[in-house]
Amino acid sequence: MTDTSTKSYTLIDGRKIAGEIKQEIADKVVERRQAGKKIPHLAFILVGDDGASQTYVDHKVKACKDVGYHYTMMRFADTISEEKLSKHITAVNNDDDVDGFIVQLPLPSHISVERITDKIRPDKDVDGFTNRNFGSIISKVPLLMPATPFGVMELLRRYNIQTEGKNCVVVGASRIAGAPLSMMLVEQGHATVTICHKYTQNLKDYTQHADILLVAVGKPGLVTADMVKEGAVVIDIGTTKVDDPSKPNGFSIKGDVDFKNVAPKCTFITPVPGGVGPMTIASLLLNTLRATELRHP
Ligand code: NAP
Repeated sequence: MTDTSTKSYTLIDGRKIAGEIKQEIADKVVERRQAGKKIPHLAFILVGDDGASQTYVDHKVKACKDVGYHYTMMRFADTISEEKLSKHITAVNNDDDVDGFIVQLPLPSHISVERITDKIRPDKDVDGFTNRNFGSIISKVPLLMPATPFGVMELLRRYNIQTEGKNCVVVGASRIAGAPLSMMLVEQGHATVTICHKYTQNLKDYTQHADILLVAVGKPGLVTADMVKEGAVVIDIGTTKVDDPSKPNGFSIKGDVDFKNVAPKCTFITPVPGGVGPMTIASLLLNTLRATELRHP
């Protein structure tokens, strides 16, 4: 049981760190404006009228406004063909004024996410989803890093959590979260990394040896207290919407970790919401600034 009066862990405050990053970016935008340099311009491609996607894009648009970026919203009906969507992507790739863009996922089932992602120019791929950016994690000078893992690495860095030589266990191996995060922990963090996924036998055998446990699965309560080592750092990337009649909107967002029982064993832990989530948008803004600086130094 967690008793806030006796808690010994540090809560990793993603909202606070993301706010600091946004302020740093806003200052750089002012500097660029004063120097007569190009203001970053982020474009959003939204297909269909999925409510959750609209909400995510609204948050990203607000973040652009907060830091002084220019932005463009491009909306398409969910009946758009893959060929037509590809043509729009080519047009944005070639639009000199747009420095970065995102294609909000999910896409309708008749459109291949892989083929569409492949069409995005890597130096405008501010989500860091393209093969080029995924692969560039292992280069000395990465281009644009996958946004969510980039945000996790930044949280570790800003909380002075050492990764070098540490035993890191990543649960979840997706293309957008677990897999690139594992590579970043090795390449940039110099950690020893174990990657677990849904075929991993006896997950607890791995997690309980982790100095740093990072979870990106999407199954609330997957990680329980008995799976976590005393003194571990726990980073919960999972965000699952669950029914919650006690909330005005009828739902709450849950992570993959049983926070209440795991937190007392930790030195550091992220909450959900308010941990990794805000950092993903901050990373998107950082990538957009980098994309702009690369094209318009
Ligand atoms: P995903 O594509 O469904 O991948 C889930 C991963 O978890 C897969 O690698 C899967 O294994 C693995 N897995 C499934 N069941 C497992 C189990 N019982 N034990 C161990 N591993 C298991 O999901 P995702 O896109 O990576 O997202 C994961 C979670 O992170 C979701 O809740 C998502 O909403 C959240 N997320 C949050 C942010 C943010 O900004 N906060 C960003 C991205 C994702 P296989 O590879 O074998 O299928």
